[in-house]
Amino acid sequence: NSVIGIVGGGQLGRMLSVAAGRLGYRTHIFDPAPGGPAMQLADAATVAPYDDHAALARFAAACNVITYEFENIPAEAIAVLEGGTAPVRPGRRALETSQDRLVEKDFLAGLGLQTAPYRTVDSADDLAAALDAIGAPAILKTRRMGYDGKGQARLQSPADADAALAAMQGAPAILEGFVEFSHEVSVIAARGVTGEVSCFDPGENLHAEGILRTTSVPARLTSSQRTDAVLLAGRILNALDYVGVMGVELFVTTGGLIVNEIAPRVHNSGHWTQNGCAVDQFEQHIRAVAGWPLGDGLRHSDVVMENLIGDDMDRVPELARLPHAALHLYGKAETRAGRKMGHVNIVQPKQG
Ligand code: ATP
Ligand code: MG
Ligand code: MG
Repeated sequence: NSVIGIVGGGQLGRMLSVAAGRLGYRTHIFDPAPGGPAMQLADAATVAPYDDHAALARFAAACNVITYEFENIPAEAIAVLEGGTAPVRPGRRALETSQDRLVEKDFLAGLGLQTAPYRTVDSADDLAAALDAIGAPAILKTRRMGYDGKGQARLQSPADADAALAAMQGAPAILEGFVEFSHEVSVIAARGVTGEVSCFDPGENLHAEGILRTTSVPARLTSSQRTDAVLLAGRILNALDYVGVMGVELFVTTGGLIVNEIAPRVHNSGHWTQNGCAVDQFEQHIRAVAGWPLGDGLRHSDVVMENLIGDDMDRVPELARLPHAALHLYGKAETRAGRKMGHVNIVQPKQG
């Protein structure tokens, strides 16, 4: 089990590679684009498009286990990866469920979990019917490929319907009712090959313009909400026969916890674990996919994680002078507005 293959060359792949290296593994990245943050730190890289099945098969043959940091891998590419001898963890079911917001919502609702009310929207007529059923305000989201709030349009009233539909550019979409949440939290949960489950403490997430800004731990939750959050994450993992780390995004409402979405990979809102736990989410994921026992998820410190987005990078010299501030920079060559360039974990002794 000495080479871990990682599909996706972004910052998550980079931090997974660091964790894998610490456990004595080598990593091999697959990504259609060269020069990503993970490529700089991995032991080997394959740069090829997802429809280059020969390259995918060679990559798979070079790895002992395959995982991913990017869930939008085309189904045919996954089939090629699965055709080799190395197991793909987490498996196809988790990918297919989280790639499509409609499949994801149906899955979650099927488990008896609460989601925002939703309807599928492929046309103006569908949207009118969905608005009748759900009401406004609401959010129209493309079913596939959205992240950081991209591929979404908010509707304050039915008058916004035409503009929202145009923003989907013809892609299949779903309409979600707007959830009146008090705040957002997420559970970073892990499941090992033997089925053991371990969760990190839920973090409280602040978004701006659809992008995660900060995660604070501990989150404002009652002990029963905390228990609910962890139990529902465990249910999701078990139902998918999941192996690895997953991010489960939740809305906190007076009517209970509502599941927003799941990510079948390490998650931005779990970056605090790098400086708040003995075993962080990246090591936890490597442990899970490599068949190791899981870390216990225990938090030794309180942490505020702040993403460094675009020009936030100008603050690095000043942040570097702060006490208790751990910087994690992704080595991206080019700074762009809205681009995640790094993050900083501000660490405090654990309260209570
Ligand atoms: P990510 O980068 O987390 O994958 P994404 O593009 O998949 O983001 P969502 O998580 O669906 O987008 O939405 C981004 C944010 O928009 C949420 O964290 C939340 O703040 C807000 N949001 C999304 N859906 C709803 C909803 N139904 N009701 C209220 N707010 C919502
Ligand atoms: Mg998402
Ligand atoms: Mg999200």
